Amino acid sequence: RRGTDPQVDVCVIGAGQAGLAAGFYLQRADRERRRRGVGELSWVVLDAHDRPGGSWPDTWPSLRLFSPAAYSSLPGWPMPRWSGEDNPPASHVVAYLRDYEQRYGLDVRRPVRVHEVRRDAGERLRVRTDHGDWSARAVISATGTQSRPFVPAVPGADDFEGTQVHTAGYRGPAAYAGQRVLVVGGANSAAQVAADLLPVVERLHWAALRPPRYLPDHVDGRVLFETATQAVRDRAAGRPTPGVASLGDVVAVPPVREARDRGRLRAVPMVERLTRTGARWPDGREEPLDAVVWATGFRPALGHLRALGLAATDGRLLTEAPAGGTMPVQAAGEPRVLLLGYGDWCGPASATLVGVGRPAREAVAAVEALVDRADRVDG
Ligand code: FAD
Repeated sequence: RRGTDPQVDVCVIGAGQAGLAAGFYLQRADRERRRRGVGELSWVVLDAHDRPGGSWPDTWPSLRLFSPAAYSSLPGWPMPRWSGEDNPPASHVVAYLRDYEQRYGLDVRRPVRVHEVRRDAGERLRVRTDHGDWSARAVISATGTQSRPFVPAVPGADDFEGTQVHTAGYRGPAAYAGQRVLVVGGANSAAQVAADLLPVVERLHWAALRPPRYLPDHVDGRVLFETATQAVRDRAAGRPTPGVASLGDVVAVPPVREARDRGRLRAVPMVERLTRTGARWPDGREEPLDAVVWATGFRPALGHLRALGLAATDGRLLTEAPAGGTMPVQAAGEPRVLLLGYGDWCGPASATLVGVGRPAREAVAAVEALVDRADRVDG
């Protein structure tokens, strides 16, 4: 099989917003190289889902973006305006990503799940998938976090007889009508799901490790992006920096703001344990529960890179800026592996639509340089 595997310069894994931003710059780089007569840059995007939109179709219907459409754009083509008064919902992002892919004719193959990336002969990487192998000179991994929901180990959780769901599987409030529900988590998902459930549940408890801090009401995705970018500049210049976390934990999107202002969105301390029928708090108080929603975040989906033995810390990979770049998009010690969209550790605000463009551009510049070097060696 080996000799017949399709060969590309770059294999992008994942066609969410991060993978599409990479596709945009790869296409531009290829076109530019052909125009200059310096060869081409071949690439492909592989995605495990059978439909466009990355993980956005898997969110709950009431989810609202942190920012207006004008501050939620990928490179090249601005997100169309949203007609409603509020920020756009997830469905608007799904349509945008679908149209973005079509507009640029990006070569996305789906459903193709990458099981493993391995080092192969001749300085190449082998990308093993459920639809055969690919041979690539470099990979841009953009697999997001949605497939790795994180649930903390809370005593008694296994014995709890009610429903437990992570926000990855939460599909709206209807299933919880008339129930007593505990939402666990200290950030945006917890606040948005709690506000979503409030009108229909009998009783809502919101538990967090520490009291969630609301960001000032005027703060939206644009301010978050600017703060994250400034933090990177500060760090590079050796200046102390407050960073995004200093702004707060919860963006006050309108439904959250409304519930908060009515005094209905107050978090209590984290439960000590779940019981068979409810939860117990450290002060001994017990409450009956029908359901627990874990809004406790995600971890980067990096299992497909395990065989490469890349340096890691705290569940993420160590990264560095490529030569001539400023964004930490390159796996430390393995310049053929670029990481995109997982969080600030691979570029400031890189897990956002507006923030992923710049790291994507630098990741593509890095793989282009790598291909040039390989061509010189081969040629
Ligand atoms: P994903 O969208 O998860 O895409 C990854 C793709 O990789 C998927 O299509 C998947 O099928 C594919 N994949 C995974 N593993 C494999 C594999 N092994 N082989 C092949 N394919 C694979 N972001 C914003 O920009 N603005 C906002 O206002 C905003 N608001 C949010 C509000 C809430 C409440 C939440 C929870 C999130 C919000 N986000 C927002 C964040 C956003 O949802 C994610 O950060 C974003 O979807 C990540 O994009 P991605 O391309 O990195 O990953």
